[in-house]
Amino acid sequence: SAAVVGEVEEKREIFDVEKARSLVKELQGVFNSGRTKSYEWRISQLNSISKMLDEKEKDITSALYKDLSKPEIEAFVSEISTAKASCKHALEELSSWMVPEKVQTSISTYPSSAEIVTEPLGVVLVISTWNFPFLLSIDPVIGAISAGNAVVLKPSEIAPVTSKLLAKLLDEYLDNSAIRVVEGAIPETTALLDQKWDKILYTGSAKVARIVMAAAAKHLTPVILELGGKCPAVVNSDINLQVASRRIIAGKWALNNGQACIGVDYIITTKEFAPKLIDSLVNEIEKCYGKNPLESKDKARIVSSSHFGRLVKLIDEDKVSDKIVYGGQRDENQLLIAPTIILNPPEDSEIMKDEIFGPIMPILTVDTIEDSFGVIKSRPKPLVAYLFTNNEQLKKSYVKNISSGGMLVNDTVLHLTVKGLPFGGVGESGMGSYHGKFSFDGFSHKKAVMYRSFDGDAPIRYPPYTPEKAKL
Ligand code: NAD
Repeated sequence: SAAVVGEVEEKREIFDVEKARSLVKELQGVFNSGRTKSYEWRISQLNSISKMLDEKEKDITSALYKDLSKPEIEAFVSEISTAKASCKHALEELSSWMVPEKVQTSISTYPSSAEIVTEPLGVVLVISTWNFPFLLSIDPVIGAISAGNAVVLKPSEIAPVTSKLLAKLLDEYLDNSAIRVVEGAIPETTALLDQKWDKILYTGSAKVARIVMAAAAKHLTPVILELGGKCPAVVNSDINLQVASRRIIAGKWALNNGQACIGVDYIITTKEFAPKLIDSLVNEIEKCYGKNPLESKDKARIVSSSHFGRLVKLIDEDKVSDKIVYGGQRDENQLLIAPTIILNPPEDSEIMKDEIFGPIMPILTVDTIEDSFGVIKSRPKPLVAYLFTNNEQLKKSYVKNISSGGMLVNDTVLHLTVKGLPFGGVGESGMGSYHGKFSFDGFSHKKAVMYRSFDGDAPIRYPPYTPEKAKL
């Protein structure tokens, strides 16, 4: 339909600054008409998303397969069902989220009352990424709609089939006078970023986040930045080794084949325990993917040949290749790399510099488990810090000493499903948060409102400031 900007057929028409400007102007008009503010509008759009998720499940799974070879069950669990849960939660809670919060006033303002009124910000922009290209697009949109905003979504060009499907489905199911999709890459995003938005939620790399934030600063636009980094998992010896190993697999290889912001990037354990942990990981990996993991159909592929090349370079680096204790096989045609474990890659190796975002697991060893704290603290603050232990003292000390976006003890990934927890980073892993009520709040303004009557008029507020008044 002509209302969807940038559908593939319309790509010949370049989405430039002029188009971006007129799109924002149009949406501002719709927002200012008050259309998106009503509870009914928000609920009707959320209901339509819910319907879309039910009716188009197959199309979504198939797009995710085309973009990432994502296994159907993985696609359902990690993207579709999470989106459904988010939408259902917003539908159930929206009326209570929208109720103004009464606040006590003081004797000096008597008689008066006060409340915090939550209002939408206006026209907001969501820029999304390719690794969970459906969920990470629709979930912020659910938040923006819940809060009563008009919204433009810019999905990732690196997952083109999902991007095209989002453009088609959102146009088909939602009110396209207020909710739009702009497909495209850097030029289109740059044109969008040139505009004045009322909020931008960006998911992606810290490098591009700097571009987004600089563009936003020109208009004093607030941002939520959902970034990544190297998420550590500290593994103590006092654990259920088999369960811990399986859960580490779930947070690395079974999560988009390691291409996940909340995936375990590397493990820290003691020198003494490392051999046992490696044995157990290998054992469990082979139970999941067999002896020849490149043949397993149960994992996503590396998204592109450039990412494949980047990952292969990491394991082929001279000072790293002789530290591979498991895996290392690759198949360039299928864009697959076997689950790979590297023991103690040097601190200055490429693999220990940036987020890996692939199926390679470095294991760093330390003398005592407490030494892991120093390793984590010497690096940028991660999006998630994982810990495996039964030691209560160690848990407490980890929570107290390690700063990270989120934390999960004795499992991976699942903290994401707790509706009451905010999801977001700190420092280099991002700023602001979303999910559930945090999405609603993130796309809202908390307006301070006070009500007075004409009673209680204190003379001291008005000149002349006589000594008599000061005594009152
Ligand atoms: P990316 O920053 O390259 O791309 C993300 C988006 O930015 C895309 O929509 C892309 O079109 C746009 N973009 C790219 N270059 C741009 C430019 N120069 N100007 C304007 N826009 C531009 O990120 P990526 O490589 O797709 O994503 C990987 C990163 O995202 C990892 O660091 C990962 O940890 C992080 N991530 C974070 C979360 C989270 O929720 N915190 C989720 C998934 C991924």
